[in-house]
This record gives sequence, C-alpha cells and structure tokens, in this order.
Amino acid sequence: MTVSNRTFSGRLMTWARGKSPWVTIFNSGGCNACDIEIIACLMPRFDVERFGILSRGSPRHADILIVTGAVTRQQAPRLRRVWEQMPEPKYVIAVGACAAGGGVFQGLYHMVGSVDQVIPVDVFVAGCPPRPDEIINAVVTCLGLMAEDAVHGGRAWRTKATSEAVAEAIA
Ligand code: SF4
Repeated sequence: MTVSNRTFSGRLMTWARGKSPWVTIFNSGGCNACDIEIIACLMPRFDVERFGILSRGSPRHADILIVTGAVTRQQAPRLRRVWEQMPEPKYVIAVGACAAGGGVFQGLYHMVGSVDQVIPVDVFVAGCPPRPDEIINAVVTCLGLMAEDAVHGGRAWRTKATSEAVAEAIA
C-alpha cells in the first residue's frame, strides 16, 4: 500500500516516518567491514538515535533495509523474503562496493552479484567500506525520497523521471 499525502492520516504517517525512520540491517555475503561501519553509526560517537533513526531486528517493523555485501546464492532468497516482509512504503540502501556491483566477489561461482539483481535499490553508497557519515547521509536521502514519493502518490514518478533524463541525454 502506498501512503498518499492526500489524506490527513497519510500526511501524519509520512511526517512520523520522516522524524523517526526504523532501519533493519542484512548482510548478504560481504566481509563484515561494512557492517562494522554501520555498527559505528549506532554507537555513541555517531549516535544516529539523536536523529530518531532506530535499528530494529524485524523487517516487519522497518522502513529502510540496509544491505551490505554482494549477494551469495544462499542469501538471495533470504534477502528477497526479508524485503517482501517489510511494509510499504519501503526503501533499500546498498552499502559498499560489493552491494553496489559485486566488488571483490564479482564473478565467483557462489555469487549472484549486486543487491539490485535481487531487490530494488533506492540509494547506493560507494566505498570499501563507506564511512559512517556516508551511511547516515544515505538514510537522510531515503527520507527525501519518502517525502517526494508521498507527494507523487508512489515511486513510479522516479522511473519516469529517469527515463526522461536518459532520453534527453541521448537526444
Ligand atoms: S565493500 Fe569492501 S568492506 Fe564492504 S563488504 Fe565489500 S569488501 Fe567488505
């Protein structure tokens, strides 16, 4: 179900999500260094809770799924299931070079590859591993997308905007 800004309850839900997004974290097969940077975000030095960003174990309670690592054949169906369990509107952040394109694991016999081959990704974070402030910035970018999607009544406008930009670039 897409939350629309046309109703009071829709506006209230969008406002609440923007003030306190809940995230869940999934390692799809990386080396764990990206996960350590995410843990640093949750610890007192970066302390994302002061922005209302809460880490939750259950995907059923999460607004944003943060995925690290290239996807192994074993983890691909699990990643898909976790994503399917999240309520709409849901957003996905692919953290690190492995999640974005397979990284150092690309082409290995047990790999599917990047996260976007299994589930739709909204924000990619470059780096091996990325710094905690870049991961926090990706969550903030998701909040911007959340607000824009609510105005447009869903995420379809983004695909349209991208196709138009590509058509304009190659014209
Ligand atoms: S991007 Fe780098 S740090 Fe992150 S999982 Fe891949 S190899 Fe490890």
